[in-house]
Amino acid sequence: MQEFAFELALCARLEEPERVVGRQLGAAVHGRRVADVCLVEPGPEFEDRAAITAETIPPLAIESAVGPGTARSVTDAFDCHPDRARAIAERAVELGYFERERAGSSTAVRATVRYPDDWFDSLVGIENKPDLDRPGDLRDQLRIDASLGVFDEVILATETYVTGAHLNRLPDAVGVWRFDPETGEREVVREPEPLDTDGPGIELLDREPGRAEVRPVTADEKRRQRRRIAERAYGKGWRTYEPPDCERCVPGDAEPVAFADAGLPWCAWGDEIVRPVADCGPTCPGYEPVDGDADTDEDGEPPVADSDAVRARRSAWEPDPAGVDRRQAGLDRFL
Ligand code: SF4
Repeated sequence: MQEFAFELALCARLEEPERVVGRQLGAAVHGRRVADVCLVEPGPEFEDRAAITAETIPPLAIESAVGPGTARSVTDAFDCHPDRARAIAERAVELGYFERERAGSSTAVRATVRYPDDWFDSLVGIENKPDLDRPGDLRDQLRIDASLGVFDEVILATETYVTGAHLNRLPDAVGVWRFDPETGEREVVREPEPLDTDGPGIELLDREPGRAEVRPVTADEKRRQRRRIAERAYGKGWRTYEPPDCERCVPGDAEPVAFADAGLPWCAWGDEIVRPVADCGPTCPGYEPVDGDADTDEDGEPPVADSDAVRARRSAWEPDPAGVDRRQAGLDRFL
């Protein structure tokens, strides 16, 4: 099975009503590491975060000097180019995290609410490598995660039978799961060790024979990166594909049956999860264009699987939050 299909099946298996799952998220502080899957376990302020917006709040808006107190000039409150600061502030206003206030001839912004830092409790990073006999950069990837410590736990998920030799090549802190995407069964081969997310870390940036480039990472940088990962996972989720316009894509036929409500891009012709952007289209021998006369909605468009509705039903993500009570947020300034 291709890594994409393995990854989607694993996301479907791990998604739960009390959790948020994201995939393909930047996990580096200074480097380029991208985590395959991240599990975000809610913390005590999860509902406060969910009430703000269903989307990712721009990290630079959260990290700016704009708070729920006195309105601040955008250009003064952001540590970036003024044009960028204005674009980010505009997006934060659209999302309801900032509100505008006139300040003489210029515009100032104020946060509508205190950002709830404790909205997530833990982050679990998962690296997928269905075939351990073709490990690629696996060892370095897991070393980066283990020594950096932006995740509370790091896990390798594979379809391969895991031997002692495989385990010996991995950092001790990395847990190992054996996952069968065709049955949804998951075996814990080795439990992960908790990583030190509160202290500083070391990030491996590059490696060549006989030479490794590393960079220290402070506790503050890690805290910021953890919040960025959690925000991105919350806004992005894991269903980042567009369903193909093919009659034979039938998410409800997905196997095992437990995945039938997960909104997977399941091809009933090939009996497998497909990658629509690469596998689907008129050149596929099984392609059957969606019939414009049948099963259309009131605008005559083919019905599109509502992945937001599926995500809302199967996870802790809130697609349509009530928004922040601005009057209350305004009063908070005086408390
Ligand atoms: S285009 Fe081909 S691979 Fe894609 S859903 Fe249709 S039959 Fe399956």
